[in-house]
Amino acid sequence: QDTSPNPYASSPATSHLTSSTNAGPRMNATFVTLARNSDLWEISRSIRQVEDRFNHAFNYDWVFLNDAEFDDTFKKVTSALTSGKTFYGKIGSEHWGFPSWIDQDRAKKVRNEMREKKIIYGDSVSYRHMCRYESGFFFHHPLMLNYEWYWRVEPSIELYCDIPYDPFKFMADNKKKYSFVLSLYEYVETIPTLWDSVTKFMAKHPEHVAKDNSMAFLSNDGGKTYNHCHFWSNFEIGSLLWLRGQGYTDYFNSLDRDGGFFYERWGDAPVHSIAAALMLPKDEIHWFEDIAYYHVPFTHCPTGEQKRIDGKCHCNPKDNFDWNGYSCTEKYLQVNGRSKPEGWEKEQ
Ligand code: GDP
Ligand code: MN
Repeated sequence: QDTSPNPYASSPATSHLTSSTNAGPRMNATFVTLARNSDLWEISRSIRQVEDRFNHAFNYDWVFLNDAEFDDTFKKVTSALTSGKTFYGKIGSEHWGFPSWIDQDRAKKVRNEMREKKIIYGDSVSYRHMCRYESGFFFHHPLMLNYEWYWRVEPSIELYCDIPYDPFKFMADNKKKYSFVLSLYEYVETIPTLWDSVTKFMAKHPEHVAKDNSMAFLSNDGGKTYNHCHFWSNFEIGSLLWLRGQGYTDYFNSLDRDGGFFYERWGDAPVHSIAAALMLPKDEIHWFEDIAYYHVPFTHCPTGEQKRIDGKCHCNPKDNFDWNGYSCTEKYLQVNGRSKPEGWEKEQ
């Protein structure tokens, strides 16, 4: 595995300047991006936005992970765009591939069926490896082991408002372990037996289920069935220590054994979300209402004109997805005894 620091990083003579231009303590944190070389120009747009809206003042590191070697152009361009140190890692074959217990014929049959049914990414092998990697392995990559906090960034996202404070520090100061900006319902066809697996896990490991959990976010009937609500994991700020802990480890291994990453098309979003909702107390999950964000096809634009003016936001509040019937954010607020932000109805 290539864990060497990247050759395009700032020289030792100047690197002290980029340690942080923002006063105050830095967290042990990094951005993390899973990408292919061909994602270069789309991830470049994302990096530019993250740097302009936040990281130019904080200079957090950025870890790039890939199942193939990153090429020189990818490293050169992304290093030029980032203000912190950059690291480029190749994912080992033990974390990107079919585990031994998967029946290849059965998996292939499912992909063919999903192709016929036109289920999004239903026929893709690489998408399944990606979902499994994001679900169970990115936080174990050697380049990630030194960090306590991660912020996931995908290609082609947008940040519409300034982020004038450190969300990593917010997470640490407020004892949060997982966070989101958008939530929605998952396609049922991609996860028909995920809830069965989760139910099995809970019966086997009741010690990992938090007392004050968010089961009501996931289920409308006290846990019998899954309502398909999940936090959208293309944006996440979270605790790596939590993901590397015993609870999440037992959870992922249990799900992985059941084979749904390959016999269905389980996404890392419902997998992470269910873990957070069941194994963390409610108040360790945070909704970043103030982080204005886009990933195709949904937008989160903060409610309240003055907030948007102060944040130099460039999103149209009418594009905000939160109070749309397909969003689960209203349910999240209900579960937490909160109401929608004041003035939301005027900005529909
Ligand atoms: P979507 O958001 O669900 O439509 O999926 P994306 O195409 O955005 O993929 C999710 C993340 O995984 C993005 O950061 C991609 O760059 C990355 N990704 C997807 N497939 C692969 C792959 O085969 N190899 C690598 N290295 N990264 C991938
Ligand atoms: Mn994406």
